[in-house]
Amino acid sequence: MSKQVFFIFILLFSFTNIAANDNPKWGSTGHRAIGVIAEKHLTKKAKKQINKLLQGQSLAFVSTYGDDIKSDSRYAKFYTWHYVNFPFNSKYENSDKNPKGDIVTGINTCISILKDKNTSQEDQIFYLKFLVHLIGDLHQPLHVGRGEDKGGNDIQVRWHNKGTNLHRVWDSNMIESWNMGYTELAKNAKKLNKPQIQSIQKGTVLDWTYESQKLAIQVYKSAEIGEKLGYKYSYKHFGTVRSQLQKSGIRLAKILNDIYG
Ligand SMILES: [Zn+2]
Repeated sequence: MSKQVFFIFILLFSFTNIAANDNPKWGSTGHRAIGVIAEKHLTKKAKKQINKLLQGQSLAFVSTYGDDIKSDSRYAKFYTWHYVNFPFNSKYENSDKNPKGDIVTGINTCISILKDKNTSQEDQIFYLKFLVHLIGDLHQPLHVGRGEDKGGNDIQVRWHNKGTNLHRVWDSNMIESWNMGYTELAKNAKKLNKPQIQSIQKGTVLDWTYESQKLAIQVYKSAEIGEKLGYKYSYKHFGTVRSQLQKSGIRLAKILNDIYG
């Protein structure tokens, strides 16, 4: 191998590695679809207040903010807010908590800051954008996965013969392969009646965390390390992705209606 070829090889290898260890998140399409779905379920009053705060930017537009700020070290203290890891056979309440915070404390902190009338305008905008993002993350099952494999980020698999990891399969690969924009995804969400919507909105942040963890257990069983995944995997699991995106949007609207409605 010549020196140049070797160098290119190393370069490619490190790129694949960077991609595989990318920050855990729904891809932007997933987050944006959640934003569009949420907007459909907002009360008029909530919509008006949010619109004023965000100066006309949509929930879809601000939904990726939580991941965007990962590139800015000033926001490093929020990094652990995107996920939670606790043993599958124990309760969150009894488990060791991350002293830097996790997605459960993160969401609840955002909500209480937004409900506080003394919160500055600047903070209101920041925590609203962050809340929109975190409710999305909470519904990606692997954000409530195992700590030892970083929520599936360390489980290397192949997606249509390209290297990726299980976390990415669930937050972007399946959605990208479906090849629909976020508006289309939102528009084609399952039609639900009022009682169905109300039943989805029931429960607490912690209930929804357990729901995601239950799904995460199934996701871990769905693929082996190094497995080649593609059409068949999507056929089996994309329904769950769509349903999680929809639940997330509907629940985000409920939380925002409680704060602003
Ligand atoms: Zn995130």
